[in-house]
Amino acid sequence: MKTIKLILGIFILCTCVSYAQEAANKYSSSEITDTEIYSHIEYLASPILGGRLKGSKGDVLSQQYLSKQLQSYGCEPKGDTAYMQTIYLRQSSDDKFTADSVKITGRDSSFILNPRDVRLMQISANGTANGQLVFAGYGILSENRNDLLNTEGVEVDIKGKIVILIDVIPDDFYLYEYNLRFCTKLAEKIKSFESRKPAGFIVIRTDRDTSLMITDNSYWYYVNSGIPVINIRRNVVAGIMQSEGYNLDSLQKRINRYGKPNCLPLENSYIAFRDKARRHYIKTTNIAGFIEGSDPELSKEVIVIGAHYDHVGGNGRTSGICYGADDNASGTAAVLEIAQKLSAEKYKLKRSVLVMFFGAEEGGLKGSEYFVNSAEFSRYNIVSMINFDMIGRLRNNELTVYTNLNIPIHDTEFNTFNEGYNLTLKYEASYEGRSDQNSFHYKGIPIIAFFTGLHEDYHTPKDLPGKINRAGAYLITNFGYDIIYHLCTTENPIKK
Ligand SMILES: [Zn+2]
Repeated sequence: MKTIKLILGIFILCTCVSYAQEAANKYSSSEITDTEIYSHIEYLASPILGGRLKGSKGDVLSQQYLSKQLQSYGCEPKGDTAYMQTIYLRQSSDDKFTADSVKITGRDSSFILNPRDVRLMQISANGTANGQLVFAGYGILSENRNDLLNTEGVEVDIKGKIVILIDVIPDDFYLYEYNLRFCTKLAEKIKSFESRKPAGFIVIRTDRDTSLMITDNSYWYYVNSGIPVINIRRNVVAGIMQSEGYNLDSLQKRINRYGKPNCLPLENSYIAFRDKARRHYIKTTNIAGFIEGSDPELSKEVIVIGAHYDHVGGNGRTSGICYGADDNASGTAAVLEIAQKLSAEKYKLKRSVLVMFFGAEEGGLKGSEYFVNSAEFSRYNIVSMINFDMIGRLRNNELTVYTNLNIPIHDTEFNTFNEGYNLTLKYEASYEGRSDQNSFHYKGIPIIAFFTGLHEDYHTPKDLPGKINRAGAYLITNFGYDIIYHLCTTENPIKK
């Protein structure tokens, strides 16, 4: 009711302003208030934002709203354009994203690969690749290792050739989890070969699974490796290598055991394929604002507080707009309120705070992944990351805390913060959360993330502001604030 009155008041007072977002600004209190949390949620989950799908009009309106809020709180803009960090995501425009007519030529025969055994990679570029095959193990080119060396230590010439590489080393197998950073890593590998002028790449799985790679091409992606890249079933490639007298499994085992490169030109095997997929780009952004701490030394340490603001638009399991009040207008509202309060008392903060609203979280955490792989990221000394994704449906006072902190060590600490809130804290391993904290987790940063649990309205048009547990969201915002304030002011940063 209060919100309605405020909006009405503004209509009367000010003839030129009609946006609900102005209401939040004009009567903004630097304290965390239930009314403000709810008014942020109401705006972000309103029909005009249409479910905040990346690249949509509602996405842009959300970005403007969040930038405006950060500006009004006095946060310093940290994007490439004011508060906005621009991200271009690319995806195939074709329904059929396939690599057809892939021709293999061996010593005595040639054949066309079954289209089910092969697919284009999202990181691939348009073009024709035609050349002799070279097996380059894990395809690592670094200061300490060159996977293009043969067993005699001589580098194999790959100019104009097609390089077969295994997608990830066993130690990096976790990259498969939820596609995290996987494509970035693969594209980095491929780009590292650029000066040797290969003609194309074939990627195969690291494990013996005969299916194609887990990472799916339907994801939006921001990396273009600049060269044609296909994924072929491992057993098919193993067959080609076998015809030249090499056993893929034992070769890989030997590389694993001795860590030594074993690059092999397959003298009689050739492949020809073409990437002619049409792809297009959409634009979205992360929003970033900075609150500088006041301690000359500790202010160099940065605590990231984050929430994703995007949602799935009309792409729900059922027809209609998915408003995303809980997912994740709720977390966005919590971060807004916390940022406002921290900014108002920044003279008390020792460490600095980077406030981030991530775009393109839905469908693969792309906004946060983009950030942690950007030059911007390496400029900060980030000591911890606190994420809020879906904190609007508190039930039985049960709050899930995803973290990579050592809970036996930190449990007492959490319980001290919890005094007066009486939340039942349920700890879970960080990556289980499948939200933006994971991008930071894989960079080795201590993370804490809050979540009030799944529900039947998740990703449906029924995730509405009216269903938010307002008292619960208020409680969690304050609980989160207390922890963040502590992290900003304590002498010792939190350790895993
Ligand atoms: Zn979410």
